[in-house]
Amino acid sequence: METTRQRRILVVEDERAIADAVAARLRAEGFLVQVVGDGPGAVEAARRTPPDAIVLDLMLPGFDGLEVCRRIQAEHPVPILMLTARGDETDQLVGLAVGADDYMAKPFSMRVLAARVHALLRRVDKMDRAPETTRPTIRLGDLEINQAERRVLRAGVEAHLTPTEFDLLVHLAGRPRTVLPRERLLADVWGWADASGTRTVDSHIKGLRRKLGADLIRTIHGVGYALEADRKHEADRGNEAGR
Ligand code: CA
Repeated sequence: METTRQRRILVVEDERAIADAVAARLRAEGFLVQVVGDGPGAVEAARRTPPDAIVLDLMLPGFDGLEVCRRIQAEHPVPILMLTARGDETDQLVGLAVGADDYMAKPFSMRVLAARVHALLRRVDKMDRAPETTRPTIRLGDLEINQAERRVLRAGVEAHLTPTEFDLLVHLAGRPRTVLPRERLLADVWGWADASGTRTVDSHIKGLRRKLGADLIRTIHGVGYALEADRKHEADRGNEAGR
């Protein structure tokens, strides 16, 4: 019988009251929780004992949450839930750009926080259960998605995607030229049941376009997104081969 390993969550927050409340709630949910109060300490803690997920405050002493995110994701990708000031959309977008998977504005309810952490971990579990080493490489025009190695190339140039960006891209590539509603992407990629986070989808699409080219994903306003496989490129190749 398989025993369930206790999940380890790193909480990075310098406001003691919030840190304590978050830690208490996550411990009550059955997680092993470590609390760190500054940027350098967070990077060090994640390096020493890689956590299963990180709850990361944006404003921190030392260096801020964005820098923590950048450094940790560069070493060992891990799902990150970022905590931001209320309604500061710029912070949220930048957070997603440097590799956070999700964000929550303060103040937030501990119930919602716990639900978001569970959703992040469910996504990781789903990835573990279906080993990608046996999944084929997807080729669409000049786009190549190597699922076994989780690497993406466009026109032969490698793009460095965050785990969420990669999952989103694989999802879109699984049904090329098909419009996928944002709510469905949110449910399938993020594991959220409610549609309150569709802006998160938009932000990650922005990230994919920035890294892979703006022409790759088409926006269908008010509905969702579709991956445009590069047919022209395929045709060009065909001509060359026939020459
Ligand atoms: Ca803070």
